[in-house]
Amino acid sequence: MKHNLARAKACAPDSKAWAVVKAHAYGHGLERAMRGFAEADGLALVEFDNGVRLRELGWSKPMLMLEGFFDAADLQTMDHYQLNGAVHCEEQLALLEAARPARKLDVHLKMNTGMNRLGFKPEAFRAAYARLRAIPHVGEITLMTHFANADEAAHACLPIREQIRRFKLGADGLAGPLSLSNSAGIFQMDALDGELVSDWIRPGVMLYGGTPGGKSAEEFGLLPTMTLASEIIGVQQIEAGDYVGYGSRFQAAGSMRIGVVACGYADGYPRHAPVDTPVLVDGVRTRIVGRVSMDMLTVDLTPLPQARVGSRVVLWGEGMPIDEVATAAGTIGYELMCALAPRVPVVEG
Ligand SMILES: *Cc1c(COP(=O)(O)O)cnc(C)c1O
Repeated sequence: MKHNLARAKACAPDSKAWAVVKAHAYGHGLERAMRGFAEADGLALVEFDNGVRLRELGWSKPMLMLEGFFDAADLQTMDHYQLNGAVHCEEQLALLEAARPARKLDVHLKMNTGMNRLGFKPEAFRAAYARLRAIPHVGEITLMTHFANADEAAHACLPIREQIRRFKLGADGLAGPLSLSNSAGIFQMDALDGELVSDWIRPGVMLYGGTPGGKSAEEFGLLPTMTLASEIIGVQQIEAGDYVGYGSRFQAAGSMRIGVVACGYADGYPRHAPVDTPVLVDGVRTRIVGRVSMDMLTVDLTPLPQARVGSRVVLWGEGMPIDEVATAAGTIGYELMCALAPRVPVVEG
């Protein structure tokens, strides 16, 4: 985590970094992330209970609630624990106007530059800013947006440059620090030649050794932070025509050995991972065969004549990039990390 954070900061040497720790730090655990990201300038997340917990655990630097607050009680929590929050809609402006916090609240005013998820449209941004500025208990206003396609600079529908153009237009002349890039934007920093420079970056997945698409984590110099590992708990010798697993979806073309791995969808391994999804057994690459079940999955031991009960299996992480497994399973590394199940024992390396 420390290494990956340093990589993010090296891409944007003049920016401060919010380490994004929503969803229990993408499945890694809040406390662990708090230690790993001790050098971040702030932590950003979505869940209020986890924000409070981080303060109770001793995080004293800034914190940002990425979706802002949902009711008056959340504003009290923000006041009490000094949490910075996004403001993305009229309802939040009204809540802020009605609040009477003991201290000034710093906010991130969010612009919708084409993602059409959260934020004020560029043409409504100035009025929202003015309304915020008129609230006596609002402190610093950071200007923020979020990119839909930062992983594909020349996207046919909404290229990152177009979002930047809309942002600059909507925020023209407004005072305040800027917060623009997620991991994908951070990776585009060089290519976009200064256009993405901002006061704050908001790296998430790259801090966990994943990428939002495009180049591999290794090419970006990132290290995996989560290795999902298990063991072979059974071996079956099967012959041509034999089937494996629920639904008999895999049929052997010839004689082969099947390894049964103690890991299934109840551990967070994706049930929809098809035949040929890569896996490491004793450090050797092989593939999933048959359907993933709740507690087990089955692998082809053809390239591993020495494999036996007890052989180590790496589902993703060290030696088996999580993005590669995700792509094979039709998803993204983010989802795999976030879905790690509570029953999986976590061992810190
Ligand atoms: C989750 C999130 C991020 C981090 O995104 P990554 O793609 O994981 O880097 C940044 N900003 C906002 C607003 C987010 O919600």
